Amino acid sequence: MEKLGLLRDIDLALHLPLRYEDETRITPIGLAREGQVVQCEGEVVECRIELRGRRQLIVRIEDESGELLLRFLHFYPSHQKSMAVGQRLRVRGELRGGFFGREMVHPAFKVVNEDTPLADSLTPVYPASASLPQVYLRKAVASGLKRAALEEVLPPGVVPADLPTLREALDFLHHPPPEASLATLEDHSHPAWQRLKFEELLAQQISQLQAQRERARLKAPALTARRGGLHEQLLAALPFGLTGAQQRVGEEIAQDLARPQPMHRLLQGDVGAGKTVVAALAAAVAIDAGWQCALMAPTEILAEQHFRKLVGWLEPLGLKVAWLTGSVKGKARQRMLDAAADGSAQLVIGTHAVIEDKVKFAKLGLAIIDEQHRFGVAQRLALRKKLASMALEPHMLMMSATPIPRTLAMTYFADLDVSTIDELPPGRTPIVTKVFADGRRDNVIERIRDEVETRAAQAYWVCPLIEESEALDLKNAIETHAELSIALPGRAVGLLHGRMKPAEKAAVMAEFSAGRMSVLVATTVIEVGVDVPNASLMVIEHAERFGLSQLHQLRGRVGRGAVASVCVLLYTGPLSQTGKERLKAMAETNDGFEIARRDLDIRGPGEFMGSRQSGAELLRFADLQEDAPLLQAARQLAPALLDRHADAARRHVERWLGTKAEFLKA
Ligand code: ADP
Ligand code: MG
Repeated sequence: MEKLGLLRDIDLALHLPLRYEDETRITPIGLAREGQVVQCEGEVVECRIELRGRRQLIVRIEDESGELLLRFLHFYPSHQKSMAVGQRLRVRGELRGGFFGREMVHPAFKVVNEDTPLADSLTPVYPASASLPQVYLRKAVASGLKRAALEEVLPPGVVPADLPTLREALDFLHHPPPEASLATLEDHSHPAWQRLKFEELLAQQISQLQAQRERARLKAPALTARRGGLHEQLLAALPFGLTGAQQRVGEEIAQDLARPQPMHRLLQGDVGAGKTVVAALAAAVAIDAGWQCALMAPTEILAEQHFRKLVGWLEPLGLKVAWLTGSVKGKARQRMLDAAADGSAQLVIGTHAVIEDKVKFAKLGLAIIDEQHRFGVAQRLALRKKLASMALEPHMLMMSATPIPRTLAMTYFADLDVSTIDELPPGRTPIVTKVFADGRRDNVIERIRDEVETRAAQAYWVCPLIEESEALDLKNAIETHAELSIALPGRAVGLLHGRMKPAEKAAVMAEFSAGRMSVLVATTVIEVGVDVPNASLMVIEHAERFGLSQLHQLRGRVGRGAVASVCVLLYTGPLSQTGKERLKAMAETNDGFEIARRDLDIRGPGEFMGSRQSGAELLRFADLQEDAPLLQAARQLAPALLDRHADAARRHVERWLGTKAEFLKA
């Protein structure tokens, strides 16, 4: 029960049936049709064990209209006793046309007498688990439903008039009367369903609004760019000019920073759109104003790369950048911690290590989270709390290449301002994506050799992801590395995988970045953010095993410079339907927003976000696409409800979200 999250009465009441079984009527045997699931009742006229192929129990029952064979492949002596000749049985199962006549294999059965009553409502079938039998669950839910406090919390007039009360809706959904429309129950369009969805969406909208209002009351340091300050100096020192989109989002961020309320902004832009420099410029503003900045990235490789890039940009301007990851140990670590705590490091870059309790900042003014979707909500909250001692909150800038679809933005990220870089830096040639069956592997290696020899190209070779076994994963990468080393004599072929020490990884990355290595064989450790502009070939093996956004991220490692780039997706068939759709999407578009839209189509919003992203359970009942009108209604109601019926709003949120409401704030 705990695993299914069924602890409180309200949880049980909200554990809704997957489907229903109709045990409210008896179908005369003669009228039942093959392929139908029916309930019949009759008297046993024969009961014997047969040894046809394997031992089985054959029971024949009949009513006035015909006869029916029951076949049991697993049975106990007790079965024979209860189904002895002369007993009256009520059986339920799928009717099949067998060789020996119409039959049911392993029907549910019950010994009855002439006046055993029929069920007076449809029988619910609940999502269950192997160790939790349906019968037990039915009883538990029925009593939970009875006990649950389901009084109407919302003031009259709030709920659309054509919808039932919450109590009515739930009673109905758990025990629909025999004449209920199964179609509207199953497609969730029944008013009882609508009521639940509305409740849920409303709770979610109210809590979003609460979070938004709470944040508006928080204080943050107002950070403004100085004329001739660091911001301008950095801009002047960059080897390129900003794109129009970068300037625009930079301006949006600057306006937020200048306010005394904490910024809560998502910077989204396709892979390679140039988010890092925008972040660096924001950091320059914060530092110039006398505050510190923290930059957190999900992997060591990415953190290291940011570190090198930002050191290159900022140290010439006289800034001190500290480096903090799990692998920085001992004295070096203490030095970094001290530099963060006494404020001498103006910028601290690192992995999750940055949010550990031991890490203190003297004056954290801006927290930047790269690839924010890779972090949990709790981690984002932790970074925000790093300034708690001063009764101020730092500004937050989150970055992601995975755009949030509009309906999700309206629900889960209503409290987030979004800036979008919708333009790539000039001079990029679009990546050409090719999809090949694994049989073409040798041709692909041949092609890599050509490219490496004739134009000193650099290639990534991403090895299959073997989720069940990290050891196999590694073996694969090592073998591919050996194979490519042989195919490319005289060229450096590197290997990068998750088991390597951070220093080893960094050394390999440095070789590849410097152009001294032709091919880098890697596991998915290179997935996010890695930036080597000269790399122009990407091979992804067993591409069918990757998710769409992951493929797009991987592909985004090439096409970062002016060289024309190619991405080869090798797959091993047979492909599943979704596998086909994913590869097709990759071949058809390079546009991250389009990819995200298709991903949403293929996977649905639940998976799209994952629990890591939402922090709270996703909508259980409502569907963002289908229930857009209800969502709209809930959105309009939320402010008035919060203003005029604060207590009802609070109780409603409490009932629906409980402690999860806290998470929605991140
Ligand atoms: P992402 O948005 O995926 O994080 P990066 O910030 O890593 O992208 O930028 C990708 C590459 O483009 C980097 O090498 C970066 O230096 C370069 N770049 C960023 N902005 C521009 C620009 N305006 N003009 C030319 N190159 C740029
Ligand atoms: Mg990046």
